Amino acid sequence: MSKYCYGWFLPRLDAVTGNPWSRYPVRYEGAPKIIPMPIQKTQKIWHNGNLIPWEQATIHVMSHVVHYGSSVFEGIRCYAQPHGSAVFRLPEHMQRLLDSAKIYRMELPFTLDELCAAVVDLIEANGVAPCYIRPIALRGYGEIGVNPKGSPVEIYMANFPWGKYVAGHGGADVCVSSWNRLAPNTMPALAKAGANYMNSQLIRMEADVNGYSEGIALDVNGLVSEGSGENIFIVRNGVLYTPPLANSALSGITRDSVLTIARHLGFTVIEQSMPRELLYIADEVFFTGTAAEVSPIRSIDRVVVGDGKTGEITQKIADEFFGIANGLKPDRFGWLTPVNVTASEPVSA
Ligand code: PMP
Repeated sequence: MSKYCYGWFLPRLDAVTGNPWSRYPVRYEGAPKIIPMPIQKTQKIWHNGNLIPWEQATIHVMSHVVHYGSSVFEGIRCYAQPHGSAVFRLPEHMQRLLDSAKIYRMELPFTLDELCAAVVDLIEANGVAPCYIRPIALRGYGEIGVNPKGSPVEIYMANFPWGKYVAGHGGADVCVSSWNRLAPNTMPALAKAGANYMNSQLIRMEADVNGYSEGIALDVNGLVSEGSGENIFIVRNGVLYTPPLANSALSGITRDSVLTIARHLGFTVIEQSMPRELLYIADEVFFTGTAAEVSPIRSIDRVVVGDGKTGEITQKIADEFFGIANGLKPDRFGWLTPVNVTASEPVSA
């Protein structure tokens, strides 16, 4: 079969979404958009204040988190610098971890400074950079009931190499998901909680089986929310738009970085609710996230975004973002925490 297919020849591909736009006659690459993501083991994992061997960082199957999803976590990147390495927006990530824990009445016995210092210690102990850092606070082995208070809070942090997250050279081919994002006052979207990612998994798997790199979720009112693990921006007539947090979007640190960079570059940025169809008529669309970084979107439901190439404004913002993250442009916003590890090559290269 040819590498390229036409959407209308394969209508059953979108039987899951039932999405009428999937028949829009746009040529696309038929291959599944999946990047394998094996975990690359390192030497040490940080656990409640101590560095322990990777193999010993295990939990009991009867831990509260296994049954009830009671965890909050972070995803952070450490970038190669011309000299050494640096963690991108470390205090902001750790503050969000503390905030997520607070929402779930989870008391973390470490201060913001202690958590930040732990990340630096861990990266230096493993000597692995550039890398992705995954701190997680969870309810461990204690009681079986839903009430988590009788189960101890444990914190682990691991770091490991991790490259590109959203598949697609020259832009990702994505869909609008048939799954909505979390409704307000059900699962708190501002908490980066493990349980939220059951919803994200549905969005991501549906995208995968239909041959897309990622799914964009609408909120319960049908307004654009975010990707399964990314915030979303559109550009129309030179103005940037992103949904406000009230549309069930996570308060992404990369989202905040892009808002800051865009305003600094002189662009108008508006946080505004967006109807789904604005996605189809945008000039440029891109995802932001720690794993996704700044990822241009090439098509949505097979409708080509703009002229199908990475947009000028997306490119300017990406250049600034990667320039600062990789220490090639001045750290004018104070976003980098240096780490004493010589990095071999940039993660995002
Ligand atoms: N939304 C969701 C659902 C996410 O999982 C992420 C990744 N943490 C983001 C947005 C982007 O957040 P950040 O830029 O802080 O990584």
